Amino acid sequence: MTNRRDFLKKSAVLAVAAAGVGSASSALAGSQDFKKKTPVQEKKKKPNIVFFLSDQHRRQAMGFWKKEKYRNALNGTSDPVHTPFIDAFAEESVVLTQCISSTPVCSPHRGMMLSGMLPHANGVPWNCRIDREWGLINKLDTLGVVLSRNNYSCGYIGKWHLDKPEPNDPANPGKYIGESDPDWTKPLAHHMDSYTPPEYRQGFDYWYAYGTKDDHADPHYYDTDGKRHEPGVWATTHEVDMAISYLKNDKQQRVEGNPFCLFVSTHPPHSRYIEVRDTDPEMYDQFYSPEKIADAKSLLNRPNLGVDGLPIKMTYSTREPSEKSIAEGKGPSEDVARIYFSSVTGVDRQFGRLLQALKESGQLDNTIVVYSADHGEMLGSHKLMEKSVIYEEALGIPMIIRYPQKLKPSVNDVLMGSMDIMPTLLGLAGLGDKIPAAVDGHDLSGYLAGTADKQDKPTFAPYMLHTEQKGLRTDRYSFVMNREGEGALFDNINDPYQLNNIFNEETEIVKELGKTLGAFLRNSDDLWFQERINKDLIQYT
Ligand code: CA
Repeated sequence: MTNRRDFLKKSAVLAVAAAGVGSASSALAGSQDFKKKTPVQEKKKKPNIVFFLSDQHRRQAMGFWKKEKYRNALNGTSDPVHTPFIDAFAEESVVLTQCISSTPVCSPHRGMMLSGMLPHANGVPWNCRIDREWGLINKLDTLGVVLSRNNYSCGYIGKWHLDKPEPNDPANPGKYIGESDPDWTKPLAHHMDSYTPPEYRQGFDYWYAYGTKDDHADPHYYDTDGKRHEPGVWATTHEVDMAISYLKNDKQQRVEGNPFCLFVSTHPPHSRYIEVRDTDPEMYDQFYSPEKIADAKSLLNRPNLGVDGLPIKMTYSTREPSEKSIAEGKGPSEDVARIYFSSVTGVDRQFGRLLQALKESGQLDNTIVVYSADHGEMLGSHKLMEKSVIYEEALGIPMIIRYPQKLKPSVNDVLMGSMDIMPTLLGLAGLGDKIPAAVDGHDLSGYLAGTADKQDKPTFAPYMLHTEQKGLRTDRYSFVMNREGEGALFDNINDPYQLNNIFNEETEIVKELGKTLGAFLRNSDDLWFQERINKDLIQYT
């Protein structure tokens, strides 16, 4: 087996710099025994954390934005979607209006979210896949590791997607787990699903997860002992069943009496969006079927729908998809909108069920509960589907945090990026002094609680597409350039649908943002800084 992740930060930087496929080799780290925990005194008990992570759930796709108190907080219109449980949850929470996925694609966001570190430092600069040599480095002090060290029980349920697939199927040694799938073709296909052995579980001692799999009606999972489960139930429904069991601790999944951190990472909403079995059929029938909505065009209300945008070199999403990709549910057909929004509503329904269970267990108010996603979904805006682009539909994610002991319900415009999530959670949990020195993100808990000095508020959140694009999201602008020096600048206040790229006109703003970007890349020891890429546009010194 390739010991790909047993290297430290500096060598990870160099490995990525050397073409993004550094295969490091040194002895594999021994797994830590996270189960050795001591019961803690009730009065000193830290809060639990329940982090509900959905997938291609764009920030605009939540029903509460239509309410008077939220309407002006969202830049541009929101989607006509039903999310009654998220809406009620938002009323009791801090709702962030400017949280972004710093690399809007699955694996890098997840790597940053758990490590608080830059993608080139944590080992996951782009999606993990069978033909790429990266995965989350297993010697880092990631969220689960830090919490475990502080007597938390840590559980992970659902999609992980932070490992390079290896031939390590527990039931078939030497085989990839994909080889047990009916649709498996050959080991060198662009396969992304994986089995995560215990030493790579990043402090999560309870495990019920998989790499990634787009057939949401037929999910599979590997439990703590490596046993495969195929429940034959829509993924989110089953994952919440498992999460409720974890909350009840009915199978001694965690140390009773100790605080716990539970991630429920659900793949929907995510392509494929082909047929009703891909979503929650009841929510589809109730709200989005042709009987309920005769013209699916009414679901797609953004003025940038189908409008040409950035040159193809600056987009990594699916543009004007082929008939094949439409057949695979990746095209901007109107039926896709029915499936997408009913997936969001189906996820909302399950999130509501989880909240209800948490409430019934008596633990709700001593729990930091988060609803978020790993990136958004273009859904036809700018003729694009999916993500991997700086447009707000892909970049903007839900970030709703309920923790009544510290947070008053409010709408908050603090700029949060993927790397800020881990230190902010530790800060909220009263573990701000345990944030590892290697963390690149910021603890924003003070801004959420209203106790931090507003003068120190972040002025930007970084945007990175591996070594190909670098940029920033500020309160007003979205700014990005590719290696060839082509750029985009959008004024999100005057142009919320990002129809006018003013990169070539607004040279003073580009210069100012180039200075900020240069300082960030220099401090990050980024490849672009090392090679002074676009040095005429980015002030590195
Ligand atoms: Ca994703």
